[in-house]
Amino acid sequence: MLSDTTFAVRPSRIHGRGLFATARIPRRMKLGELSGVLRPIRAANRDHQQRRVIKLVEVDDRWALDCTDGNHFSLLNHSCQANCYLRIIRRHVEVYSRGPIRAGAELTVDYGETMHPDGMGCQCGVAGCRSLI
Ligand SMILES: [Zn+2]
Repeated sequence: MLSDTTFAVRPSRIHGRGLFATARIPRRMKLGELSGVLRPIRAANRDHQQRRVIKLVEVDDRWALDCTDGNHFSLLNHSCQANCYLRIIRRHVEVYSRGPIRAGAELTVDYGETMHPDGMGCQCGVAGCRSLI
């Protein structure tokens, strides 16, 4: 696992603040684990309905990790060509790099299906961006 000094929080071109690599990260490397509070999915969704930024990760069919007050990994923005991915193991949400990531790059994950009721425009700007996630 990489040390926290490998990451920096900076303004993002995608959305608000994002998480950036300060050093080169090898492929398939575990970056760390998303922190948050486990809550029943239905109650968590109810609370988050009115929010613009949703920070919920479903960890099984009953529970979601609410990362509203989570660590730096809760700042991972969405990209349709993400350089990181999340792996859920026993209700823990781990963050891994896909390929090698250059120093200075913003770290992103593909949110997949969003919980926003009316969808959310994507601004990742990569070729093949799905525009609405
Ligand atoms: Zn996109």
